[in-house]
Amino acid sequence: MRTLAIPKVSARDVFLACISTARQANKTRLQALEQAVVDAADQYEVAAIAAALHTLGHLEGEPVDELDRTELTKTYEQRMVPTSSPGNRFYNLLKDVPHRICPLCSKRIVETLDHQLPKMKYPLLAVVPTNLVPACSSCNWVKGEKIPVTSAEQTLHPYYDDVTGEQWLFARVQHAENRPPYVEYTVRPPEGWDAILAARVLNHFQTFRLGELYGPHAGQEMSNIRGALARMDVAGRVRFLAETERSIAVDARAGGLNHWRRVLYQALGADSWYINEGFTRS
Ligand SMILES: [Zn+2]
Repeated sequence: MRTLAIPKVSARDVFLACISTARQANKTRLQALEQAVVDAADQYEVAAIAAALHTLGHLEGEPVDELDRTELTKTYEQRMVPTSSPGNRFYNLLKDVPHRICPLCSKRIVETLDHQLPKMKYPLLAVVPTNLVPACSSCNWVKGEKIPVTSAEQTLHPYYDDVTGEQWLFARVQHAENRPPYVEYTVRPPEGWDAILAARVLNHFQTFRLGELYGPHAGQEMSNIRGALARMDVAGRVRFLAETERSIAVDARAGGLNHWRRVLYQALGADSWYINEGFTRS
């Protein structure tokens, strides 16, 4: 997971921009909801800081009028996403993250915005910037309409959580007969971590299927370096793996100590079977 700066644009500014070109009847309806949207955004931000989004159940299904809910949802779909829509500049602004890398999986390319709390169930949060997280299509799809019921069920929030400074992602080289070695990724939260944060990290890893994502990429990386390793002696391989591990950027915006490639090189450098002969089978 990568950490992102909290968006500087306000919920009110985005909402007013989005509804600015709505037809008059819809606009009047939406203008009457402006303060409810701003209040919901304020409550959301307080809850997000406290990792307590599961306590916002009272906002679910609000406002009670079905047409109001429909118009709010359409505010995202029709007034923010389309290229020519009045809120599109905010849509692009929120999607604009370093190297376009999805902060949820730290691997694939950002293609959309994911509603941390889904817009169908929380229409008041449909265009609230802090509820809109840049995401790849796969992360957006696997998370779907899931709503956390407990603290532990909340996936990590790139604007509010920073778990990049301590290592919780680990990998291990697995050997098997008649197939190339492969790498399994696991979550092992640091000792002394708060139990809820530890559960959330594991939930994030499982929800976004990060082990299934990183494993094949690790296999490709091992295949790519096989030739280079073959030209080195054992000491050279040890040095190469350690230097590559160290060279991978470890700041929060790159995933910190839990960057899947850094973790891979750490695992390769710690596996004497791989260093001595296993790499030739990669
Ligand atoms: Zn992703």
